[in-house]
Amino acid sequence: MTLNSALDQAYDTSDTGFAPIADVAQARRSRKTPSRMKAVALPGDGIGPEIMEAVQRILIAGGARIDWTVCDAGASADAKGAASGLPSETLDEIAKAGMVLKGPLETGVGTGGKSANVTLRKHFELYANVRPARRLPGIITPYMDRDIDLVVVRENVEDLYAGIEHMQTPDVAQCLKLITRAGSAKIAEAAFAVAKADGRSRVTCASKANIMKLSEGLFKTAFEDVAATYPDIASDHMIIDNLAHRLVMSPEDFDVICTTNMNGDIISDLTAGLVGGLGLAPSANLGARMAMFEAVHGSAPDIAGKGLANPTALLLAAIMMLRQGGKLASAERIEHALYVTLEEGEDLTADMATPRGSKPASTEAFADRVISNLGRRSQACPPAPKSSLKLHDGPAQTTAVSAKTDRSDAGVDIFVEFGGGPAELASCLKAAAADLPFTLAMISNRGLKVYPGTVPMADFADHWRCRFASRAPQDDLPEQDLATLMSRISNFARWCHVERLQMMDGAPGFSVAQGQ
Ligand code: NAP
Repeated sequence: MTLNSALDQAYDTSDTGFAPIADVAQARRSRKTPSRMKAVALPGDGIGPEIMEAVQRILIAGGARIDWTVCDAGASADAKGAASGLPSETLDEIAKAGMVLKGPLETGVGTGGKSANVTLRKHFELYANVRPARRLPGIITPYMDRDIDLVVVRENVEDLYAGIEHMQTPDVAQCLKLITRAGSAKIAEAAFAVAKADGRSRVTCASKANIMKLSEGLFKTAFEDVAATYPDIASDHMIIDNLAHRLVMSPEDFDVICTTNMNGDIISDLTAGLVGGLGLAPSANLGARMAMFEAVHGSAPDIAGKGLANPTALLLAAIMMLRQGGKLASAERIEHALYVTLEEGEDLTADMATPRGSKPASTEAFADRVISNLGRRSQACPPAPKSSLKLHDGPAQTTAVSAKTDRSDAGVDIFVEFGGGPAELASCLKAAAADLPFTLAMISNRGLKVYPGTVPMADFADHWRCRFASRAPQDDLPEQDLATLMSRISNFARWCHVERLQMMDGAPGFSVAQGQ
């Protein structure tokens, strides 16, 4: 038996505790053979390959028994013609293993194909993005004396990141913000599951429900419904901008934060900044059947290939992966070695060494130092979670949800491109609807009501929302009449999109305009 396999047994046979290095002899005598975990490694772009190599070395030395399949993804795969930088063989291997450690993948800003990162999350329904932010020993930050230990649980596949965008006119772009009750309930369940697994006592829902009353409002309501089923865990709600302010003022007050995709994207970078920056921040993308772990930072092309990159964030992500795979003992052993290394401050990479005035080391030397500290324990290391997260599966098939009592159509919003002013547009629209069962109820421009009434101070875009109320509210819109109305509108304006105005259970399923 090699030393490594003895260490495998010493550190991976136990799911509950840390096995000291002196137990290697006992491990040699143990009959238990720990199972090996299958995982796909995506080294990715820029600094990805060098930090992946460093982390895999530490995992092997730390006794984590993993069968790796290394796959191609990102810019190099993109250059070979793989859609979104993800070859089908890579997707197949990920589906087989169910566990991924991912390096950073490059994405063009404002141009190019879909992000490989976002595509991976959506392809495998990795709906929960879990980003812990915990004070690390020896890391110099303005908050280093504050007891920060929180987790952001971000919805990962819906919201504005559904990526449904349309140019409405040559100068007006639109992005759809899609929030579902099922998706919101799933992420709320995930947040409470994180709280339970980590022994945390409070989950805060963060939303912008004061402004986006339907979409963010639905998220908040779904959260509150789930929270009511966890009476042992406290819960509250905070408007996202207030939460950002409170995080900067008193981050130690927070425990688990549950929020929508875009809010979570921004707020979790903020929380990473509180504890030392993106170079130290890990994240997990979790679904019911798949888990993908990564550093929060990108490919840092400016330092790629120079041996300067800090592998800490990817290592922390790998530790999360080990815990998810049930390798609790090796996770704890490696985490302690990392904490000892950070505490003692020897052989840190430049981003960690320079602020504390010590000599910077290479990626490789840092990894060697962590390996040399395996078996040592740090007082600063937090208690390890006692169990892996098990997340809820969504419905296998689309389920049609009916309104509880009634549902009817109140009218229609027709969005048009029109180069004139609101009074001229209103007069044309009224004439177009004169003999049809629709009344022009309102026109808004960029969300602000401009008809009826006047708005002397506003700038106008050539994109208008024209709201028609049905003369007699009915179960279904009179579609032939709507087609006639749109055809007449086409004589003086160009329609861009149409929204049905629905009443659901007595409440309007549409927003009013500002000033309406
Ligand atoms: P970035 O790659 O995170 O780098 C920003 C800067 O942070 C780097 O120039 C470097 O700064 C520092 N840094 C980041 N990671 C570091 C590490 N491990 N060790 C030491 N320093 C580190 O952000 P970006 O420049 O905005 O993005 C570059 C590419 O990465 C883009 O294509 C982007 O789309 C992609 N990206 C991918 C992911 C992902 O895969 N999840 C996430 C974010 C971005 P200094 O050298 O100046 O100190």
